[in-house]
Amino acid sequence: MARPAPAKKLKPAEQARIAEIFDRFAALNDDPRTELEYRDPFTLVVAVALSAQATDKSVNKATERLFADAPTPEAMLALGEEGLIPYIASIGLFRTKAKNVVALSRILVERYGGEAPLNREALQALPGVGRKTASVVLNELGVEPAIAVDTHVFRVSHRLGLSTGKTPEQVEAELMGKIPQPYLTRAHHWLILHGRYTCLARRPKCGECPVADLCPSRHLFETGTAGAPASPSRRKKAASAA
Ligand code: SF4
Repeated sequence: MARPAPAKKLKPAEQARIAEIFDRFAALNDDPRTELEYRDPFTLVVAVALSAQATDKSVNKATERLFADAPTPEAMLALGEEGLIPYIASIGLFRTKAKNVVALSRILVERYGGEAPLNREALQALPGVGRKTASVVLNELGVEPAIAVDTHVFRVSHRLGLSTGKTPEQVEAELMGKIPQPYLTRAHHWLILHGRYTCLARRPKCGECPVADLCPSRHLFETGTAGAPASPSRRKKAASAA
């Protein structure tokens, strides 16, 4: 995938700040991985498709049995929608997801010899596979660096001043243009993990954050009590002082 050029050239100090953020993430976790469990490209596509609006933990719980019983597109097809539903009934939108997983398995069997195609265009043409799912798959398998912007990546990117984009596509383009090349493949995982465990939506743990001194938002979450967000008036005051 072509690396989008930054909208405007970054000042050296900003380049250094961004590089330092990712240096620190790398120092703490050099080889971040998806928390979704999978066996091969096919099961990765299925796991990521199932994970929309669901936690990785709930998907792993469902796929542990599912992938043991139906590890290939042929087996998934034989299971059929009604056979698949009991495995994934604990996951949100399971009826639609069952329909998509069986339909995409049929396409893989009929057009791709039972293998998941590893290019964006073919992946995104599969039922239930959008840009975000394709990005996760291609990045995870090392086919191309990509940053799938979910709610965690969106929030953390804004708080860290890496993006002002209003849509996931805008945020993705900005991140791809700003993050140093050596870190691009791993950036997606670092930002998700940071959002999931430290930079939480309501109560970010700024006191434990390894990049707090590089974060323009840390003042917004100054606390009077441990971990509680600052009041709206304090946030406003802190923002204008920053
Ligand atoms: S300092 Fe706070 S707001 Fe900034 S990235 Fe860290 S946890 Fe998030």
